[in-house]
Amino acid sequence: MFNTIIIGAGAAGLMAGAHSHGSTLILEHSGVIARKLRVTGGGACNFSNLNVSPDKYQSENINFCRSALAGYSTSDFLELMKRYKLAWEERENGELFAFSAPAIADMLISECRSNGTAIKTNITIKSIDKDDDLFTVTTETGVFQGENLIIATGGKSIPKLGATEFGMRIAKQFGHTLVHARPALTSITLPGGFCAELAGITLMVDVTLKRTTIRRNLLFTHHGLTGPAAFWISLYAQDMHDISIDLAPNNREDIVHLAAGGRSILNATSLVVPKALARVILDDLEINSDDKVATATKETRKAIHDMIHSFRIPQGAKADGFDKAEVTAGGVSTKDINSSTMESKLVKGLYFVGEVLDMTGQLGGYNLHWAWASGVKAAESINQYSTTL
Ligand SMILES: Cc1cc2nc3c(=O)[nH]c(=O)nc-3n(C[C@H](O)[C@H](O)[C@H](O)COP(=O)(O)OP(=O)(O)OC[C@H]3O[C@@H](n4cnc5c(N)ncnc54)[C@H](O)[C@@H]3O)c2cc1C
Repeated sequence: MFNTIIIGAGAAGLMAGAHSHGSTLILEHSGVIARKLRVTGGGACNFSNLNVSPDKYQSENINFCRSALAGYSTSDFLELMKRYKLAWEERENGELFAFSAPAIADMLISECRSNGTAIKTNITIKSIDKDDDLFTVTTETGVFQGENLIIATGGKSIPKLGATEFGMRIAKQFGHTLVHARPALTSITLPGGFCAELAGITLMVDVTLKRTTIRRNLLFTHHGLTGPAAFWISLYAQDMHDISIDLAPNNREDIVHLAAGGRSILNATSLVVPKALARVILDDLEINSDDKVATATKETRKAIHDMIHSFRIPQGAKADGFDKAEVTAGGVSTKDINSSTMESKLVKGLYFVGEVLDMTGQLGGYNLHWAWASGVKAAESINQYSTTL
């Protein structure tokens, strides 16, 4: 019999366990605690960002994260790392990296232990029920009861790291609505070998969706697009054709002004974008690349200019799947969750934290920060309102 049972020993579940006051048990189905957290940030864990704010998140209601983010800041996490003598560094765009993701996982496990929170691994949950004021979690190895239940099972991304749909299934069982779950923060595959000859090219581009423009690196691969700009697109653009990409934001001159008239159109366009890309653009527009730039009509030059500065992702492009995506966008709808406590508005004592919720951060440490902040918020509200066992 526990005050709180937490399902999932990942980033959010461990943080909630570290902050719980009453008797707390974490149930994890994998044999390894925090398996995904241990590989974050390429093993260095991009644990937070100096620019954490609701506008860095995607959700049906981005304001839902406001209260949790206000309650747990980047400096709170840095204080915790300081206690464990863990070093960190700031990289571009305010991204904060530790030097070891496993050390971050071990720090949280240690916080749970010193807090008296028990963690059981290799647990297969068969069912979760609620009678009167108690949740009953039936597993293959025993039955556990708790006054409060925190679902911290994450999203569907990367099943081989332990990801399951379990949290969404439980949410549905208790009457919650789901927002369509889709892979996000991932590469984009383009149709029909569009990019084979461009593989390896990296550009600093401006990506525009509606009234938002961001400047990030875009990498061409054999299959399509990757890098921070592609990841951003996969998060925000449910319809990729709404996106416009400026492939050369720092050079918007008409090619006729850049090159001497005797140059070929190919050479002139290559002053704006790498030659291989210039060739693909001219082929696509069916423009003879050997023609002299001086003879190019205004329409031809405009077509080249539009293709470079308002590049549209071709039809048939799609974000890579859950086996590759860093996160799951969508999930448990926030409309039936109290943003000040993370508690369900439908079922007393039921909480949802982390990626299982419809709250997805941009690349840059925002997803882990959401896991920390929502985990702390749920634990603190339980500490405040429940009768401690
Ligand atoms: C390769 C990779 C790198 C990433 N790097 C970063 C980064 O550097 N910075 C960043 O901010 N974000 C990063 N992310 C995203 C980030 O890891 C997640 O958003 C974050 O871990 C979500 O925390 P969570 O606790 O909600 O879920 P998770 O950390 O995924 O934890 C969920 C836990 O629940 C367990 N579980 C699932 N189903 C069950 C079940 N049925 N029963 C019991 N337990 C269950 C899982 O095994 C897991 O331990 C990365 C993701 C990936 C895949």
